[in-house]
Amino acid sequence: MGFQCDAESKRKRYFNEFCPLTLLDLDTMTILRVALDVPLDTLFDYHDGGHSVEVGQRVLVPFGRRRLAGIVLEKTDHSQFPQDRIKPVLEVFQSEPPLSQEILQILRFAASYYHAPIGQAIVSALPAPLRAPRPAPHERRLGYRLTATGRAAGVEALPRQAVLQRKLWLALAQAEALEASALAAISAGWRAAVKPLLAKQWVESVVLDTAEAFAPSQPTPGPVLNPEQQQAVDAVAACLGRFQVALLHGITGSGKTEVYMRLLQTALRESPAQVLVLVPEINLTPQLEHRFHSRFPHERMVSLHSQMNDGERLRNWRLAESGRARIVIGTRLAVFTPMPHLKLIVVDEEHDASYKQQDGMRYSARDIAILRAKQAGIPILLGSATPSLESWHNARCGRYMLLTLGSRAIATARLPEIHTIPAAAGLLRDGFSPLLLEALRQRLARGEQSLLFINRRGYAPVLLCSSCAWTAPCTRCSAHLVVHLRDKRLCCHHCGHEQRIPLQCPRCGNPDLRPTGQGTQRVEATLARLFPQARILRVDRDSTRRKGAMAGMMSDVHGGHVDILVGTQMLAKGHDFPNLTLVGVLDTDSALFSADFRAAERLFAQLMQVAGRAGRAEKPGQVLIQTAFPDHVLFHALKRHDFTEFAASQLEERRMAGLPPYCFQAVLRAEAARLAPVQEFLQEAVQLAHTIAGRVTVYDPVRPTLQRLKGLERAQLLVQAESRKALQKFLDQWMNEVRTLPSAGKVRWSLDVDPLEI
Ligand code: ADP
Ligand code: ZN
Ligand code: ZN
Repeated sequence: MGFQCDAESKRKRYFNEFCPLTLLDLDTMTILRVALDVPLDTLFDYHDGGHSVEVGQRVLVPFGRRRLAGIVLEKTDHSQFPQDRIKPVLEVFQSEPPLSQEILQILRFAASYYHAPIGQAIVSALPAPLRAPRPAPHERRLGYRLTATGRAAGVEALPRQAVLQRKLWLALAQAEALEASALAAISAGWRAAVKPLLAKQWVESVVLDTAEAFAPSQPTPGPVLNPEQQQAVDAVAACLGRFQVALLHGITGSGKTEVYMRLLQTALRESPAQVLVLVPEINLTPQLEHRFHSRFPHERMVSLHSQMNDGERLRNWRLAESGRARIVIGTRLAVFTPMPHLKLIVVDEEHDASYKQQDGMRYSARDIAILRAKQAGIPILLGSATPSLESWHNARCGRYMLLTLGSRAIATARLPEIHTIPAAAGLLRDGFSPLLLEALRQRLARGEQSLLFINRRGYAPVLLCSSCAWTAPCTRCSAHLVVHLRDKRLCCHHCGHEQRIPLQCPRCGNPDLRPTGQGTQRVEATLARLFPQARILRVDRDSTRRKGAMAGMMSDVHGGHVDILVGTQMLAKGHDFPNLTLVGVLDTDSALFSADFRAAERLFAQLMQVAGRAGRAEKPGQVLIQTAFPDHVLFHALKRHDFTEFAASQLEERRMAGLPPYCFQAVLRAEAARLAPVQEFLQEAVQLAHTIAGRVTVYDPVRPTLQRLKGLERAQLLVQAESRKALQKFLDQWMNEVRTLPSAGKVRWSLDVDPLEI
């Protein structure tokens, strides 16, 4: 096994005590410090074994009895470990380009800021083939291109009736080469048509090292920008070539995407140049890709997200790394894509919680993106209708440039009217207020679409015994099992546990067990009963599980084959439904009084987003929100579409309570099969914390709302400081000590810096 060389690590101090070292000068060898995917926060020393190796290269090394692939992060001429204990690398993957210094720096920073083991941080950012202990496959893909003869002959030399041959010629003439799938996109009969061209040697087949992701077409020109859009574009364009964070605050439909596209265009005028566009959700990439593609058909664009297969992801990564892909669109993991000619970053829906990774290294892709922009000396544009209060605060105090789009871009598209409707228990029928039902009826009569938003899937959140009030619990989590009537099952939405619906109460034997509360399936069933003639579509995680299901559903909506959409927040984001004029929101009240101080911020963003689905085109929209608390300040601001007012009230509350963005937090979480070791670990961690001088507040361990998850008892402790720097300084020291606690080995623990949920 290799040896740790992180001088700060207490583990190493232990090691030193047991195995006194002499500093040996290994003048014949180069020592490589290698990042490996193991849970120790350190690099490991190997010697180069006579290979020539560069920093950033992947190497195969022996580690215990295993062989692991790692990344060389440093080269030096000495090691603190005795020469005879340092092993040589087994193989250097010379066929792969080394990772760039730029990306290694970002990853090192991220690992240190989020206190993640360096090797895990680096390795987990790579596409799977670059984690495997073998060289990444070199894909040989076949493509076609015009020969010099073919090009010289010209399209007119082809017979008029050979329509498809002519089409292929035109497509090939606009690209270096096109792969089979690009030709297939032109016509299913392409193979037959390309044959005579190959026979005449007008076209030849070639091995492509990279894919041409597109068949070129004519660009569609964009609209003339309105003055606010133009101002935003000009302001950011003026920052090209230097670091600047800009926050684009614009309601849904105000033309933010149009601003992004104009800026992309400006940035890509330079050559070489690349732009990175981050989106919160995989489902949003195809839409955006489509819009970008029709605007920039000649730009090579790739997407990166976790649902692509390994080969695809590696290929797209390589296209970005080699600078050949000029536009990269991706979800949070794409923030670590090497892009040598990066000129601009756009983060769409910057407030979205999906930018935060929830396991492994718990990074915020938005924050890493800002860091990247700073390092690369380029502008970054954060866009949102409801910016995070952190970003909003930064804009208010002038750290970020604030750009505002105040109205909808299409002049005739008015903002929807937002109303609250009373929802006290006695007023509802099957969870619906009469007003909402009447509004639905009107839309059906007019042939317009409606959307009902309820952020809970399944049929009902609770199965309740009518006699003894027993409710079906998950045995592994402190949560109720959700009734999924269609599959006749009870499911835990936290751990995935499933069981059959019992025929009688296990406690008292009563057979009358009642699904209680509303989920998407029940709403769908109720509507089907009340409006038998309506075409209803449910969109939630259950109904969209199949690959491509979401895209199919969206095209049904656009094709006018749906009258009522029932869905969770999946529907709230990004989708544009021109014929949708009513949005009904069924159940928000639980979020209004949540213990989580960010719940109101999230609810406001979510409601603004769903509201934004209504009346996007010429038809005015209406939003009806059922609530028992219509006077809540959140609704007051929402009705007036006034994010600024809402943000001001929230920030004031946060300031008085000393909460983020007025302080900086980290949470140490621990879990184990029994609570005792969890408590012991956290108690010891608290005691350690008190021995470290620093301006931080360390709170006592508490149980989170979900006390038990997947059979593990959980607890956590919060650390808070007035500055990022103070927090980091404390965490550096504290984590080094916490790692060495004997009790740390008995629990699963993790640190979450800048947590979004506490
Ligand atoms: P956002 O990203 O803020 O939701 P979009 O950029 O998608 O907004 O714009 C909403 C709609 O308005 C789109 O159909 C877009 O084509 C159109 N649009 C945007 N800017 C303009 C403009 N300056 N003139 C006319 N239409 C525009
Ligand atoms: Zn009972
Ligand atoms: Zn569970």
